[in-house]
Amino acid sequence: MVQNKEGDVIPVIGLEVHVQLETDTKIFCGCSTKEGVEPNVNVCPVCLGLPGSLPTLNEAAVRGAVKIGKAIGADISKETSFHRKNYFYPDLPKGFQITQYDEPICTEGEIEINVEGNRKRIRIERAHLEEDPGSLQHVSEGRGKEDYVLVDYNRAGIPLVEIVTEPDLRAPKEVRLFLAKLEEDLEFLGVFNSNRDGSLRADANVSLIRIADVNEDGTIDKKILQSAERIEIKNISSYKGAEKALVYEISRQKNTIMHGGEIKQETRHWDENRGITTPMRSKETEGDYRYFTEFDLPILSGEWWDEYIKNIDIPELPEAKRNRFYEEYMLTEEVAAKLTSTKDVSEFYELVVEEFDPDFAARWVADIILGELNYRDIDIGDVESRLDEFRRLIAYVAGGKITEKNARSIVLRRMLDEGSSPEEILDQEELEVSDDKEVRDFVLEVIEENKDAVADYERGESNAMNYLVGQVMVKTKGNANPAFINQILKEIIENGGGEKKELQ
Ligand code: ADP
Ligand code: ZN
Ligand code: MG
Repeated sequence: MVQNKEGDVIPVIGLEVHVQLETDTKIFCGCSTKEGVEPNVNVCPVCLGLPGSLPTLNEAAVRGAVKIGKAIGADISKETSFHRKNYFYPDLPKGFQITQYDEPICTEGEIEINVEGNRKRIRIERAHLEEDPGSLQHVSEGRGKEDYVLVDYNRAGIPLVEIVTEPDLRAPKEVRLFLAKLEEDLEFLGVFNSNRDGSLRADANVSLIRIADVNEDGTIDKKILQSAERIEIKNISSYKGAEKALVYEISRQKNTIMHGGEIKQETRHWDENRGITTPMRSKETEGDYRYFTEFDLPILSGEWWDEYIKNIDIPELPEAKRNRFYEEYMLTEEVAAKLTSTKDVSEFYELVVEEFDPDFAARWVADIILGELNYRDIDIGDVESRLDEFRRLIAYVAGGKITEKNARSIVLRRMLDEGSSPEEILDQEELEVSDDKEVRDFVLEVIEENKDAVADYERGESNAMNYLVGQVMVKTKGNANPAFINQILKEIIENGGGEKKELQ
């Protein structure tokens, strides 16, 4: 394809995203998927590809893939099977990778992203199951050049779902939004752990298409997409990395064209440290992989399979939850987003909001409790067994037993720092809100002792009221509600002040 001027083209991007499924054991053997162990300990004859060993399919991996399929609105295939993809590389001890080919487990889904307030659908072509290869570590002993390579097969056989999009993305920023949304959904499904190193890896395909070739509705004909020279960028391991790699690669392609060069189909490597892409190899074609059926694994089909798919449920996903919180509890978008930031937070809010006013519950969960937890670098999931203690503390505030200020600055903090229950702390500290009678007595005392301030207030100086409230607070040792004190002060002063003691 010939392009003349830089301004005449737009980037077209499609992704192949590899997601590690969170399972206890590998996809075709019983080896652990545990991280942080010595290299080459989570291995057995199956994942090392020793002769005579046979794979067995991990049901948890299949279930994870079905959940992902349902979350992206895909069709779960009536029949799905496995293939061998043959290639030679040291991270692949069998000499082939077990993957899926013409019968992937999921087809035709979509993920919606929000691009500056506009909804945009990114179609998913397919999602399939496969095994992760091992990992290689290139070692250099100080002279800059690589001296040797170490191989670790702990990762070999970790279940992956590869999600392939249609080339519907049009900018690096859209790629970042897409991957962030995908990651959020995967976490909510409980099939994925973003804290795991390399748990989400993407290859990005990008070509430059002439604006003249884009249809009015924004679509681009298949023929044009197929004939475009596209570059595949490998080794992107985060959504921020994806955005950077694409920004770099698009400007590299535009510059090449501007200087009269040509873009040739090839695979390039994203060098995270240098922030550039470098040529790797010309792209393999499908024939190079000599795909053939993996007959050592079952084909999933038939009545039991239909039944199995039907019985897999997925939870409400973050965006739907956010919208529901926004509407049902009348929260602001910002608060609704905070309360749906993780599954645990949203579940805790729903527990609290059953009993209390939505705004009050939101303030307690999103601001106060999350605030104190974040400050201590604790996840709400880490304190799951204490959620009822938090709920009880909130109930004491709602019931007027203690002030919100004391509940937060004394009780909640001690609960988190010392592990005590709210009741233990309430027993030890004198925090119970002063009763009405006591507050009224203090108010009368303060009026008696601050005649000048009372007179100032009567002349319309509102600062005087703040001062008087402060004086009463001191007498109650902070155990009273300032709004209540304010009300009583006004009531008494407006009814004739200190003279009318019988008012109480
Ligand atoms: P392959 O033959 O390499 O498997 P596919 O058609 O299956 O090609 O697409 C692989 C990936 O490349 C998909 O993510 C797809 O969206 C993307 N892709 C296809 N055509 C283009 C294009 N013209 N520009 C950018 N990405 C593309
Ligand atoms: Zn194994
Ligand atoms: Mg393909």
